[in-house]
Amino acid sequence: MPHPSIQLGEYLIRPVSDGDLTTNVEFVLGIDRPVAQGLAGTDDSGKIIIPVTSFLISGAGDSLVLVDAGSGTQMQPTLGRLPANLRALGVDPATITHVVLTHIHPDHANGLIDDDGAANFPNAALVVAAEEANFWMAPAAAAESPALARQRARNALNLAPYLDRLHIVKNGESLLGLTAMVTPGHTPGHTCWRLDAANQSLLAWGDIVHIAAIQIPRPDAGVFYDMDLDAARASRARILDMAARDRLLIAGAHVTAPGVGHVVRHGEGYVYEPQI
Ligand SMILES: [Zn+2]
Repeated sequence: MPHPSIQLGEYLIRPVSDGDLTTNVEFVLGIDRPVAQGLAGTDDSGKIIIPVTSFLISGAGDSLVLVDAGSGTQMQPTLGRLPANLRALGVDPATITHVVLTHIHPDHANGLIDDDGAANFPNAALVVAAEEANFWMAPAAAAESPALARQRARNALNLAPYLDRLHIVKNGESLLGLTAMVTPGHTPGHTCWRLDAANQSLLAWGDIVHIAAIQIPRPDAGVFYDMDLDAARASRARILDMAARDRLLIAGAHVTAPGVGHVVRHGEGYVYEPQI
């Protein structure tokens, strides 16, 4: 079977899997557990398995862009497959010219480095929105939780090999056809990247939904990993409304693989319609 891909004008978009992440309905907030369980189709254990997908974009000159860097090998044994899956597609990670991050959470950024701390994408510039880079690169606040401090320390390692080729982008700025739309809440500078081709646009929306089976039909539901629940809910409402209204293709990091499709209004929420 050929690898799934979609052509948008001059751009070719190829989803590449990093593997599967096991999570739990207990991390879903603001919705009754039986309802969440029903939507996710899970039993009383609450276990939910979600995909982790990066997106390879070619077509802007000689660039080869990767949106999100995967989880690395230390999160869960079913993750960290991105480098091998790129090679299986015939793409040497050393040929990637830009890694563009939606946000700097472990399942999107720990794969920037290998187990020795060296760059997995040795020739890539790292593109991050200013709000996100500034938050994680700032010194720890005095009252910071130990979990956040640990994440900040890990992110310092993730970014270290890329600091001399870090490209910080402002909200609304475009690079290689991708425009940064900062959508704060899940993280302070969570970013959707909008690709405008001739007649169609695609939005690589990162973690606008973390658990798609629940949060697409019920966008009011948040997740434990949302650093600011209310802001994340507002960003999710805004992006889902825009994606449905403008019939944007969405490329979702945790939407049913391969993760490119449309969202359509349905009652108070939305349904997902895969395109590939
Ligand atoms: Zn994520």
